[in-house]
Amino acid sequence: MKIAIAIDGPAAAGKSTIAKKVALMRGFTYIDTGAMYRAFTWYCLQKGVDCQDEKACCALIPEVNIELKPGYVVLCNGVDVSKPIRGTDVSGNVSYIASYKDIRLALVELQRKMAEKDSVIMDGRDIGTYVLPNAEVKIFQVASVEKRAERRYLENQEKGIACTYEDIVADVEKRDYIDSHRAFAPLKPAPDAIHLDTSNLSIDEVVAEVNKIIDQKLVEKK
Ligand code: C5P
Repeated sequence: MKIAIAIDGPAAAGKSTIAKKVALMRGFTYIDTGAMYRAFTWYCLQKGVDCQDEKACCALIPEVNIELKPGYVVLCNGVDVSKPIRGTDVSGNVSYIASYKDIRLALVELQRKMAEKDSVIMDGRDIGTYVLPNAEVKIFQVASVEKRAERRYLENQEKGIACTYEDIVADVEKRDYIDSHRAFAPLKPAPDAIHLDTSNLSIDEVVAEVNKIIDQKLVEKK
């Protein structure tokens, strides 16, 4: 049986960490939709286009080709952008790009195509509400701002991405605000999403919880 699992939630809530692990355990394809908005943002910045200029950014849609490859590799027009899309420049601008309806429509089309082929775990902001409204399992994963910033700070240190804890708090709060206030497909839980607060849980505990939710939902659907 082909199934789809949607994991949505605010920035740095650990969605991708959990989704990657659960995908490996269950043999599902992991789709990081945030990486696609980040790759588009990277391209705009490369081109010297102002990310707050909707018209100029949307004009680039026909020339941008984004691909997700095995090993969490993200290609933009054939260039491996997996690392630069995690930088502060991209993080600081991605929510503007993600608020433009035409860019969302183009990327959502790709996301839906990917979900047609295999069983997927897709993480993002609008997966349960807009991209895959019929997903068998919908999870809305949250954690306190402090916990999220602390985790992202440690992750960035490990990856050698320069930043301060204060920078991360500001980035996370700014993105959450823009993402939840945009007109089209904003960040919000689907009415049928299960809320999961990971503030006081370890990665293994969250993985176990998500697996339990998936098992329960699949039994109910049978
Ligand atoms: O998931 P990640 O934090 O990498 O996403 C980066 C940004 O991409 C988010 O802050 C949001 O602006 C945008 N995004 C989105 N819809 C998605 C996934 C990400 O708007 N489905």
